[in-house]
Formats: sequence, structure tokens, C-alpha cells
Amino acid sequence: MRRGLAAGNWKMNGTGASLAEIEALTAAHPDPSVDILICPPATLLARMSDAVAGGPVATGGQDCHAAVSGAHTGDISAEMLLDAGASHVIVGHSERRADHHEADADVRAKAEAAMRAGLVTVICLGESLAEREAGRTLDVIGAQLAGSLPDGLTGANAVIAYEPIWAIGTGKVPTIAQIAEVHDFIRSALVERFEGEGDKMRILYGGSVKPTNAAEIFAVANVDGALVGGASLKAADFSPIIAAL
Ligand code: PEP
Repeated sequence: MRRGLAAGNWKMNGTGASLAEIEALTAAHPDPSVDILICPPATLLARMSDAVAGGPVATGGQDCHAAVSGAHTGDISAEMLLDAGASHVIVGHSERRADHHEADADVRAKAEAAMRAGLVTVICLGESLAEREAGRTLDVIGAQLAGSLPDGLTGANAVIAYEPIWAIGTGKVPTIAQIAEVHDFIRSALVERFEGEGDKMRILYGGSVKPTNAAEIFAVANVDGALVGGASLKAADFSPIIAAL
């Protein structure tokens, strides 16, 4: 009942020449049975949004400021992302949490801003290797869910991405049992808090998803798609991941 979502996070990668990858991706999936989202760097967002307009690929920002506008040099508001053609925004990515010291309260404010602007918010959660090895994974995820998710989320305006920090860009992937445990835990927490809407929210897995492991991960209950970094940069890599969903 939940439609799959294959989301690509280009991070700080890509110039105008990279738009050729989007053309190839669109050509390869003219009528996909899943949703496709690419979150390019802000410098490409408007051009990419124009390039995919009317087609199956949606675009999103990688972060937003909590305010609508103001004296925040270098920041971009959710309303500005919408104006540039985005329909989604990632908030709370572990690289933002680490590099920019974003705490759960900041992530929650950004998710509220996304709701205010009418964007779908992709809220990222995940434990560090030290937290996993200390047996604290579910405690950490539970605290992030409680602290990062605003009230009022629905299946239509929110997506949750479980991304173990130690699996991002490392080639290391949790076992299928570990992915299943966390996704089941997130689903239960979402249903407890958001009732029926919690059952409608998609939960993505992220962390070293590749064409070679995607099908196995997508077969896990409560995995509704993936948030993909490195393997979303080239259509030749992302296309088989989309096809596996
Ligand atoms: C990410 O940055 O969200 C991510 C999952 O990266 P990668 O797929 O490269 O591990």
C-alpha cells in the first residue's frame, strides 16, 4: 500500500554537465512504478527542476533554514526551495548533524519549516558505530524520533530515512536482520504517535545501497525504498536500484 521511493542525495557533487545523468535516468524510467527523487546541490536545483518538469523525477533540497527569510548568509529557506521547483527537502542528514552541529530540535524546526512551505520532508535518523556497539541503537533512534519529528506529520508530507552513520559512504551495510529490527521499531513508534498516518509514512533505508544489494534490502518488511548517496550520481548505478524497488 505504500508506494516505493528511490531518493538520491547528490551531496556536494554535480555541475551543469551532470544534468545529462538526469536525462538518462528519465529516459530509462518513463513510467516508473515507484517515486523517484533527486536532491542535487542548491546550485543545480532550479535547472534540474526545469529539466524534469512534467516527468516522473521529483527534485528536493538537501537542507533548509527554519525561517522564511532574513539575515542568514548562505542559508536557503523551504519557501525558496519550493520556488526553485523542489517538492521535497532532506533534513537532519548525519553530515548536517555532524558538520553543522544540528541537534534534534534544529531538525524538528526545519521539518516544521518544510511543512509550512508545503514540501515533503525527508527526516534522517541513525546511530553511530559506537552507539551500535554499545547496544544503544534503538535508544538512539527512539530519542531522535521523539526529538526530530514535529507534530502533524502525515504519510503525504513526511518520509523517514534510517541511515546508520557507519554505513554512509563506507561500503559497510547492516545485516538484513539489523535493518529489519530498526525499521520495525521505527514503524511501531510512528504508528504509536501518528496512528494511521504513521502506517502511511514511508521509511527509507540509507547507507551504501548499491545495485548489488538493493533487491535484498527492499525485500525487508517496512523498507519502503532507499536514500542513496554515491550510487545516485550516475544513471547507470541508480537506474538498477530503482528497478529493484
Ligand atoms: C547518504 O548520504 O544519505 C548515503 C546513504 O550515502 P551512500 O549511499 O553513499 O552511503
